[in-house]
Amino acid sequence: MADILIIGAGGVGSVVAHKCAQAAKKDGAFARITLASRTLARCRDLAAQVRERTGVILDTAQVDADDVPALCRLIEKVRPSLVLNIALPYQDLHIMDACLECGVNYLDTANYEPPETAHFEYKWQWAYQERFAKAGLCALLGSGFDPGVTNVFAAWVMKHELDQVEVLDIIDCNAGDHGQPFATNFNPEINIREVTARGRYWERGEWVETDPLAWRMDYDFPEKIGHRMCYLMYHEELESLVRNLPGIRRARFWMTFSESYLNHLKVLGNVGMTRIDPVEFHGQQIVPVQFLARLLPDPASLGPLTRGKTCIGNRMQGVKDGRKKTVYIYNVCVHEDCYAEVGSQAISYTTGVPAMVGAKMIVDGTWNKPGVWNMEQMDPDPFLKDLAAYGLPWQCVDLTDRE
Ligand code: NDP
Repeated sequence: MADILIIGAGGVGSVVAHKCAQAAKKDGAFARITLASRTLARCRDLAAQVRERTGVILDTAQVDADDVPALCRLIEKVRPSLVLNIALPYQDLHIMDACLECGVNYLDTANYEPPETAHFEYKWQWAYQERFAKAGLCALLGSGFDPGVTNVFAAWVMKHELDQVEVLDIIDCNAGDHGQPFATNFNPEINIREVTARGRYWERGEWVETDPLAWRMDYDFPEKIGHRMCYLMYHEELESLVRNLPGIRRARFWMTFSESYLNHLKVLGNVGMTRIDPVEFHGQQIVPVQFLARLLPDPASLGPLTRGKTCIGNRMQGVKDGRKKTVYIYNVCVHEDCYAEVGSQAISYTTGVPAMVGAKMIVDGTWNKPGVWNMEQMDPDPFLKDLAAYGLPWQCVDLTDRE
């Protein structure tokens, strides 16, 4: 049984804390769980909720994860086997530095992004490969849903369903409705930076760029979700997947957005509210997107308001035993069920469950190998077994005849 340290007590952190407590109780997967974040009150509130729902007591602590010496002091005090970084992408490198210094394994759900540029890339974290390997420590990158489960889905399909993949389409559908005119379902600043970035996809060995959300397709989702418009975006798992799925011809990522969301985003962009560079206002430096994020609903508050389903999965075309084959592997999650179980909406839930499962894989040794890893580099079977057992059942259907 391993002690773990969770950093971040927001929308996703809340699900991670609940799920780790459930796994500690049900499987003895974790021993002592410490929850730390910038704001101690949020950790204490969350620990009280976890105790009420599961009976498990979490320790709490305050830490600024951008302060590496302070992080090291906390890690030395808690002495966990693993740090789960559920804060923001800006903290990734600082937390990795602290883990290396203290000899502790690392896990996150989003790749590093420098605060001053809306640009994410794995190069900064892949650069830690040798140091983690030499220290005998494991760093697992992107253990959320997308990235995360989508990477593991790809690995599972390559293990069981296809000999060669030609086309990968990752399709993320949130068919839920929170009734708010404009709200993001995870951290608003990170979400808006991602959605307003230029689109990018992989085609015959190179990246092709598009204007933001310029390409769209209508997709018919299963389980009575039906037709939804999906928009092409760049998403971080494409970078590792095109490396780790040799010979892939095309890889794209699509996400659904409501008309209302897109209209608001367009207007906010037109008036400069999504800018990430500081603007002087009444003698103070203000970053417009950070000010906007302050005004928008806290994603954690959307839990009781959201109704409907999410459906996230991979459509993969390729060859099996010399024949063309297309499969679709996906999970459907119901917002109301997530709220009933852990008090969160499905976006936080679908991110938090795989973060806990990734942590379990590391601490029980199943996935614990020295170095820095993306999820598709590990054996998908034990992860997907636990994923289903902990609330995210999935299925894979053969679409070859429907082509
Ligand atoms: P929230 O903004 O709701 O929560 C972030 C938490 O991190 C807050 O508790 C915040 O503290 C804390 N935090 C921020 N900065 C620091 C710091 N310097 N030191 C310590 N704690 C800090 O974000 P979400 O929960 O929505 O998202 C969490 C992560 O999950 C993000 O990286 C996001 O990109 C990722 N994500 C991944 C997905 C996937 O499928 N892979 C999907 C959705 C999200 P405070 O309370 O003080 O603000």
